[in-house]
Amino acid sequence: MKIAVLSRNANLYSTRRLREAGEARGHEVDIIDTLHCYMDITKSNPTVRYHGQALPHYDAVIPRIGASITFYGTAVVRQFEMMGTFSVNESVAISRSRDKLRSLQLLSRKGVGLPRTGFANKADNIKDVIKNVGGAPVVIKLLEGTQGIGVVLADTNKVAESVMEAFIGLKANILVQEFIKEAGGADIRCLVIGNRVVAAMKRQGAEGEFRSNLHRGGSASLVKLSPAERATAVNAAKVMGLNVCGVDILQSSHGPVVMEVNSSPGLEGIEQATNKDVAAMIFKFIEENAKPHNTRTRGKG
Ligand code: ADP
Repeated sequence: MKIAVLSRNANLYSTRRLREAGEARGHEVDIIDTLHCYMDITKSNPTVRYHGQALPHYDAVIPRIGASITFYGTAVVRQFEMMGTFSVNESVAISRSRDKLRSLQLLSRKGVGLPRTGFANKADNIKDVIKNVGGAPVVIKLLEGTQGIGVVLADTNKVAESVMEAFIGLKANILVQEFIKEAGGADIRCLVIGNRVVAAMKRQGAEGEFRSNLHRGGSASLVKLSPAERATAVNAAKVMGLNVCGVDILQSSHGPVVMEVNSSPGLEGIEQATNKDVAAMIFKFIEENAKPHNTRTRGKG
C-alpha cells in the first residue's frame, strides 16, 4: 500500500519507527510535513498540494498531529478524508480528543470511570466547584496544557481558590479534579489499536512529583492490566472514536479512572518499556481496515 505519515519532523522516534515498520511490511511510506500541505478545496476534485505539486493518491494516512497544530492539522486530515483516503484516526475524533473538557463530558455520558471534575468560568463559583469535587487536595488543570505543564496540585482549599482565581483572571480555561492520592504519583498508559490494548506501561513520577509524565523525569515499567483497566481503556477509545490512541488511567480507590485520551501517542516510551513493535501493529490495523472512503464521517461534523 501507499501510506503517508503526517508529521512535522521525520527524525522523531515515532515517525522513524513508522517508516521502518511500514517498509518492513512491504508498504511505500512517505513522510509528509503537515504544515507544508496546502489545500485545493473544489467541488469535483479536492486535492492536497505539497511543494508546488498535487500529492499522489495514498491508500491511508497516519496523522501525527501535535497539540500546537490541531486546527491546521485536522483540516489537512479532513481533506485526505474527502479524497477517500483512509485516516487511521479521523479528523473529527482528533479535534474531539484535543478538548479535555469535551472529552471528559463524552466519557462521562457513556459511563467511563473518571476523576470527579468541575469546570467554572466565574470567580464567584470557585468555592462551590472545589466543594463539589470533594474539597482539597485538588488538581487544577489548564485546558490547553500538555506534558504536565499547567497541572497544579493544591493542598488546601485556600491555595486552590487563589490558583483558580489567578487562572480565571488571566482568562485561562481550567478544570478542577479530585486528587487521586492513592495512585501514588503513577499512571498507566494503555496503547489501544482497534478495540484492543496492545501494550501498556506504568509511569511513575520522579521522587516528590505527583505528575508521572516521562517528559518530567517519570520512569516507565511493564504493567499487567486488570480486566477492568483493559475494558476502561478500550471503552474510552471507542467513545472518542479513535482507532489508535493512548489512554491514560489512574488507579483510584473507586476503580480505574481515565485522565486523558491522546490521539497521537508517542511510541518511544511504550515500545521501550514493553519491547513490542507497536508501529508494526498500526500497519497491521491499516492492512485490515483501509478501504477507500472507509471513514465514518468523511470529514463531516
Ligand atoms: P498532561 O496532558 O499535561 O500530561 P495530565 O492531565 O495527563 O496532563 O496530568 C499530568 C500528570 O499529573 C498525570 O500523568 C498524572 O500523573 C498526574 N495527575 C493528573 N491528574 C491527576 C489527578 N486527578 N489525581 C492524581 N494525579 C493526577
